[in-house]
Amino acid sequence: MPTYIVLLGPPGAGKGTQAEILAANFQLPHISSGDIFRENIKKDTELGKLAQTYMSKGELVPDDVTIAMIRERFSRPDCVRGAILDGFPRNPAQADDVEGMLKGFGGQVNLVPLITAPSDVLILRLAGRWTCRANGHIFHERFNPSKQSRVCDFDGSPLFQRDDDKADTVKHRIEVYQNQTAPLIDYYNKRGILVEINGSAPIEEVAAHLMSALNK
Ligand code: ADP
Ligand code: ADP
Repeated sequence: MPTYIVLLGPPGAGKGTQAEILAANFQLPHISSGDIFRENIKKDTELGKLAQTYMSKGELVPDDVTIAMIRERFSRPDCVRGAILDGFPRNPAQADDVEGMLKGFGGQVNLVPLITAPSDVLILRLAGRWTCRANGHIFHERFNPSKQSRVCDFDGSPLFQRDDDKADTVKHRIEVYQNQTAPLIDYYNKRGILVEINGSAPIEEVAAHLMSALNK
């Protein structure tokens, strides 16, 4: 049976960081909707141009666009064994769609770790986040610094600070999370697959909690 894990939580909670660790441990693809959008922006595709107008304001990209993009990603063969989903679904409509897609693989969402941290922690994390240009590897100038300043440890590509990690946009993204994404907590709780993880702990501790939740 394939295993699909949805990482839920506000911006800055550590979803991308933990998704990288889980993907390596379980040999599953890490699928980040934000990374796919950023890749399209870098390549200046039509999808990228459209997504950018929403992303720069901290708004969600419309569902029809996002769902089409995710369907395309799921059509690739590496997804049949399972995947770590990071950044989507982001609202109940997307969650319904994901369920339909996974059914097509004979799978379903198996576990939804909800990673949480207080807003002041989220703001501090996003203000110091540095992201790798080539593959989206994630660093933090204080909490998880790269060995060499502004260079990715894994692929040597330059690190950059995301436009939407500016303080004003971050505050708005946290509101968008609360209004549009947080209803998924109830959605997955009702299905009995939600597990809460304290995201305020250091990266290795959060990873250990996640691994023990997943091994159950
Ligand atoms: P998300 O994908 O949920 O937005 P990220 O994984 O990108 O969050 O993490 C946001 C920032 O916080 C990054 O700079 C990352 O290095 C840092 N970070 C992630 N997890 C922790 C943690 N447990 N403790 C301290 N910093 C963290
Ligand atoms: P973070 O990891 O900090 O939560 P993401 O990289 O997941 O940020 O998302 C960045 C932006 O990309 C969002 O603010 C939104 O504009 C867009 N985005 C990413 N995933 C989705 C999605 N599933 N639905 C709609 N918009 C999305």
